[in-house]
Amino acid sequence: MRTCKNKGKESTLLLRAGKRCHSSHCKERKEMSFHTDQPITIHTYTSGEQGLFVNAYLIETPGGVVTVDGTLTRSDSRAFRSLYETLEKPLLAVLVTHAHPDHVAGITELVQGKDVPIVALASVKRLMEQTEQAKHAQWGPVYQDEWIRTWTYPNRLLKDRETITFDGITYRAYDLGPGGDCDANAIWIAETDPKVAFVGDLIFHGMHSYVADDHLLGWLANLERARIFLQDVETIYLGHGEHGSLELLDAQRDYLLTYCAAVKELAQGEAKLTEAAKQALVTRMQQYAPEAPLTFMIALGADAVAAELARRK
Ligand SMILES: [Zn+2]
Repeated sequence: MRTCKNKGKESTLLLRAGKRCHSSHCKERKEMSFHTDQPITIHTYTSGEQGLFVNAYLIETPGGVVTVDGTLTRSDSRAFRSLYETLEKPLLAVLVTHAHPDHVAGITELVQGKDVPIVALASVKRLMEQTEQAKHAQWGPVYQDEWIRTWTYPNRLLKDRETITFDGITYRAYDLGPGGDCDANAIWIAETDPKVAFVGDLIFHGMHSYVADDHLLGWLANLERARIFLQDVETIYLGHGEHGSLELLDAQRDYLLTYCAAVKELAQGEAKLTEAAKQALVTRMQQYAPEAPLTFMIALGADAVAAELARRK
């Protein structure tokens, strides 16, 4: 396996895929454990700050490209599509991690004019349907021309642990339910050698987390559930931030607990924080993560977390 950094926003990782061989001539797993040696390259597209630094991925195999998610803004989604087009291969599928606009909005630009499987959990599709109009109303005026006003929906639904295969690579969907930064969350594991995972917004790395959708306790629980699924995964690709390994789970847990503790103290049992308390929360979290961008996320999630804590008094 080889990891290299391209200039700019892309990084690539070379893997192998194929059927595991159990016959007696397989002495050395690294060289002999696969019947086929199909190279896979993973390209990461990272959006700018306006696009919340969201990542979308291109998984390139000899016969085509599978993408994971689709970015937020019109500019980023067009740039993501351009990156895909440089590969000059058919688009085999789009895998969706969760229903937030920074992951699904750009799918419209990506698949325009193409008949492509868009694969998701039924819960993720349902949440897109339930929230699309509210998201347009909330964020359309903020983003104006950069806002994508029509979402394109999943057309192939998988259940928990179900697999789907494109160009010889098997992808398994894990249904986490609520808890991650959204009410419905999938992680995808590509059963390559070594395995790689795309966990969406279960983990943020190097920036503040979006905690405004409730279910913080579910999120903490899911971090520990995911640790089991991810134990033989070598690289974990994130919705926001640099990819890494299992210790990213610890960092996300610590962030959420720190945030939760600060909200509990500042809310004093109420379901909302005062403006002064929100400011104090921002100060505390900036002290905890001084370099982290997306600081507006800190106050944005404060009341949701205070309300969840108040319900559990
Ligand atoms: Zn996101």
